[in-house]
Amino acid sequence: MGPSGLSTGTSGNVSSRSGEGMLITPSGVPYAKLTPDMIVEVREDGTFDGDIRPSSEWRMHLDIYQARPEAGAVVHTHSPHATALACHGEGIPAFHYMVAVAGGTTIRCAAYATFGTQALSDAMMSALEGRRACLLAHHGQIAFGRDVESAFALAIEVETLATQYTLARQLGPPPLLDDQEMDRVLKAFRNYGAQSKAATAQH
Ligand code: 13P
Ligand code: ZN
Repeated sequence: MGPSGLSTGTSGNVSSRSGEGMLITPSGVPYAKLTPDMIVEVREDGTFDGDIRPSSEWRMHLDIYQARPEAGAVVHTHSPHATALACHGEGIPAFHYMVAVAGGTTIRCAAYATFGTQALSDAMMSALEGRRACLLAHHGQIAFGRDVESAFALAIEVETLATQYTLARQLGPPPLLDDQEMDRVLKAFRNYGAQSKAATAQH
């Protein structure tokens, strides 16, 4: 999280589904100081054992696992460009075809609520409808995937799109792709990069 530029200090958090619950980064520990024994196991009812408290955003992570069976890992960050847009309450429209990487024709921005609250998680869940990522007003972004690598890759992609969108807007409001074209892209993404089972087995 640190070297990627996605998060500085103790901002952001990462989790991975584990049984009915999850494994999640502890609250308020800088990434460089994290050791495996600090990772907290949180049960499906939000309880945990031991003295190390889970991330204050454990509700957002747990709610994703409970509502979205395809989610195996979640990454939350305050990455700079995604956060800048979110501070204006703006999501990312279809200015570029890659917006479809998050699963839909736009990347929404969830309404503001205080960090660590159920209200924030509720706002996030509605912004994530039909999507794998969203921005969080006055806060940052959150992304999920089937495993930590894909959740992290999506968080990077959201930050890249936010950077490109911010740049594009400096030349004036960019024209947007229409829903028909975005539907074509969403369909094309279903087979993008797919390899045959035989080819995958060789690697
Ligand atoms: P934690 O250190 O509790 O994970 O909080 C960081 C954060 O990003 C809160 O939104
Ligand atoms: Zn945060």
